[in-house]
This record gives sequence, C-alpha cells and structure tokens, in this order.
Amino acid sequence: MRIMSAFYRNNDGNEKKIHLGEMTTHVYTQKLKRKLFCPTENCTARVSFSGGRYPHFRTWKYDQHSKKCPYHFDRIPVNLGRNVTDIVSTEISYNRRQKALHDAYTQMNLSEEEREAIRISRNRHRPKAQSITTRKEQVKGEQLVLFDSKLYEDNLIFRRRNLSKRYVDEIFESDIGQIRLVMGNIASSIEAGNVAEIVVKNNDQVITVVFEESFTADPFNSSYLNKFWAINQVLDQDIVQFTGIGDIRKSTRSKRLELVIHAGTDFKVNNKDMSAVAAQIALDQYRLG
Ligand SMILES: [Zn+2]
Repeated sequence: MRIMSAFYRNNDGNEKKIHLGEMTTHVYTQKLKRKLFCPTENCTARVSFSGGRYPHFRTWKYDQHSKKCPYHFDRIPVNLGRNVTDIVSTEISYNRRQKALHDAYTQMNLSEEEREAIRISRNRHRPKAQSITTRKEQVKGEQLVLFDSKLYEDNLIFRRRNLSKRYVDEIFESDIGQIRLVMGNIASSIEAGNVAEIVVKNNDQVITVVFEESFTADPFNSSYLNKFWAINQVLDQDIVQFTGIGDIRKSTRSKRLELVIHAGTDFKVNNKDMSAVAAQIALDQYRLG
C-alpha cells in the first residue's frame, strides 16, 4: 500500500503532517531525514522519502508497523542463494495487486483461439536459454548488492518479484508460506460469523479460502464484513469465478491447503469487489420493493 503522508517530528516533540506533494528530495535530505514517521496514530515505524519519477514514502529499513497499522506487512526470510539469507518484506503495492487480479480474470476467460495466439507469440519471442541464464545471474548479483543497507532501502528487489498466478490445482505443498494469486470457481461459501469459508475448485482440486481474526479486526475491511451472503446470491444464478491474493498454508486441523486473505480488496467475485456486489444486490432488491 502506498504511504501518501507522514508525520514529521522535530526534536522538541512537535508534530506536523506532511503530504507527498509537499516533499522534495532536497528538503528531505536537508531537514526531514530520520524524522518522518508512519501517518497512522500510535504506529512508531519510521518512513523515508524517495524522489524521482514516482515519489513515495516507504517504510524505513527493518522498522515494523504496529500490527493494527494498515501499512503493516510481514517480513519473511528469503533465501537469495549463495548462502545469504536476508529479510525481505512481502509488501506488494495495492495497484499491482489490483492489476494482477484483473489480469488473472482476463486469463481465465480467454477463448481457445486467444490462448493459442498467446502461446505462439510467446514461443516466437522466447529468448535463447543462454541469455536467460545470464539474466538470472545478473539478478542474483543485484540482490546481493541490495544486501548493502543503502541499496536495500531502494526496494529494487520487489519490482522483480513475481506475484504468481495459479489455478487451484496448480497449488502444491511447495507453495506453503508463499503469496499466491489463486484462480478457480467457487464451489461453496459457508458464512461463519461476519465472514465466510469459501471453497474454490479447479479440475476437481479444492482450496479453502479463509478470513481470520486479523481480517475482521482491520478497520479497512469493515465494509466487507457481513457481506459474504452476496456470494451465495450470485452462486444461485451463475458460475462464480474467484481470484484472490493471500498466503498459502496448511490447516493444522483438516491438513488441507488454505488461502489466507488479509484484505477485502485482495479478492474478487467474477472480477468484482464483493462489497460492491452486495451493494448492487441490495439496491436491486430495494428497487423491486
Ligand atoms: Zn504504520
């Protein structure tokens, strides 16, 4: 999620909110560096400013947002090869998530002819094996350079990380602990409290989509709570295609694979936002009286 503003705290403890539009690299390095904080109340994470073509605030290296902060994200150890293990955040921007969900839906609904056309054009443009290897080596090199704290802060690595799209039957135990964009059709949705357990299916394989306490507690998800009935309403009429981004894990109880979703905006029903679907159904019912 893009951080659009920050709190500036000077040495006297005075505080001022600063918006991205007011920032310049000069002012930042001269005056504000190390004095900018996350705009969320009671969150102690520091932020830095990055100028250039797409100016933005970003979380200070190794700082953690409070659990309740909407900018909170987990830092997980990632093996970069060559015996170097570093902490890399799993943050993927909101816009990238939305685009990935949209692309996944398009991919699910391609005609045979379109699939064939894409396959052919991919084969034509496929670079030689040699150049792929070279490029991989280069990426590894850059990742190692990122180990240096200054470059690390530049976050280059995240732009290279892929948000892998997978159909339900392409998710395996090896995906446990990874972020995946999962695609399939909704087989059932059972409401439990203010959320639901959704079973998504493809080629006879299923995955359970779960929403946990942290989802319910997050104020950013409030418009999704108690709206899961909308899925069953659509399911009564039609096939419902599901696309959702979350963590893959194995349920300790059922031993089955689960997709844990953390944000209401991270999943779509037939490419639509679920709270928008619920609002539309409610409006239609009201009009019909
Ligand atoms: Zn924060």
